[in-house]
Amino acid sequence: MPSKAAAYAAQSATSPLARFTIDRRDPGPTDVAMEILYCGVCHSDLHFARNEWGITQFPVVPGHEIVGRVTRVGSGVKGFRAGDVAAVGCLVDSCRACECCTRNLEQFCQKGAIFTYGGQDAHLGGTTHGGYSKSIVVDERFTLRVPKNLDPAAAAPLLCAGITTYSPLRQWGAGKGKKVGVVGLGGLGHMGVKFARAFGAHTVLLTTSPSKAEDGKRLGADEVIISKDAAQMGRHAGSFDVILDTVSADHDINALLGLLRLDGTLSLVGVPPAPMSVGAFGLIMPRKKIAGSLIGGLAETQEMLDFCGKHGIASDIEKIAMDQINTAYERMLRSDVRYRFVIDMATLV
Ligand code: NAP
Ligand code: ZN
Ligand code: ZN
Repeated sequence: MPSKAAAYAAQSATSPLARFTIDRRDPGPTDVAMEILYCGVCHSDLHFARNEWGITQFPVVPGHEIVGRVTRVGSGVKGFRAGDVAAVGCLVDSCRACECCTRNLEQFCQKGAIFTYGGQDAHLGGTTHGGYSKSIVVDERFTLRVPKNLDPAAAAPLLCAGITTYSPLRQWGAGKGKKVGVVGLGGLGHMGVKFARAFGAHTVLLTTSPSKAEDGKRLGADEVIISKDAAQMGRHAGSFDVILDTVSADHDINALLGLLRLDGTLSLVGVPPAPMSVGAFGLIMPRKKIAGSLIGGLAETQEMLDFCGKHGIASDIEKIAMDQINTAYERMLRSDVRYRFVIDMATLV
């Protein structure tokens, strides 16, 4: 028998999130059941709740930056026990057999990865429900370990903002001797700055918000560029090896391409709802790349969490109560978040 759990859901693209009740399955032999302690608020939650990508099935319970305490485990679970702090990110299942799954890239599962919310729920039917809720049940293989030295609330954003920036920075060789730009100082961007710095790159923040310049340096940027200032942008033309673009809204990526040097890479992780135009000249000279990246696989996500444990890296957060979520979305749209909202799930009753 499934059990009932309190949650917050959007019932339509235009309705605010409100209290809702969902079913959670009984843990099967390989499942881990947890009480959710904290859930980060990702801009993807907002895009999804408002159906900005045109793919949402309602009702939707967002949330994929989940840290919880294990309450029960199935008989076959080896790695978790009741009482452990555990985490769930953007994925709850995949086929486990295709080329992508066998290469630890479950997010690109060729049969279709099952995302934490809005995916097809093979157990209960309907869609999967995310972390804006009191509990969740997830297969052990999709459950992650949180290093003990990290604050569980500040660790929650690592499950999406963390891995989404860690993975492409690793992929494109951000490290010593490289000049790396991070565009947008929001949830993803502030983790990107921390990782680029931790990997030893010369780290540059590009922000539209002059008020964030000082924080950018505190978070690890060697330099800050106010991206609306053409003179500042001009001084850095043709100089970056890697630029990680985390911007959630329409913006000019041609201006960013102009900052790349020979063989430089513009890696997009932000997902503005509308297509963006690219001038071919800015890409062909001198031989540049535009790349994309989607979160990371399970093994890399655990690697990132362990890296954060070792280096004492976590998110800068503002804790909110569950019923502040709609205000938090409005603030996120105004770029007024320093630098990730995290819902304290004890406030959901
Ligand atoms: P966020 O906290 O709202 O941060 C976005 C930042 O982008 C803002 O803080 C702002 O930074 C900048 N920005 C906003 N509007 C802008 C505009 N019109 N022009 C230029 N800059 C602007 O969002 P987030 O949670 O980091 O997510 C960012 C994007 O990544 C979203 O589209 C989200 O869906 C996507 N995402 C993708 C993945 C993936 O796997 N690829 C995973 C998670 C999220 P400044 O104030 O510093 O300019
Ligand atoms: Zn996310
Ligand atoms: Zn697969």
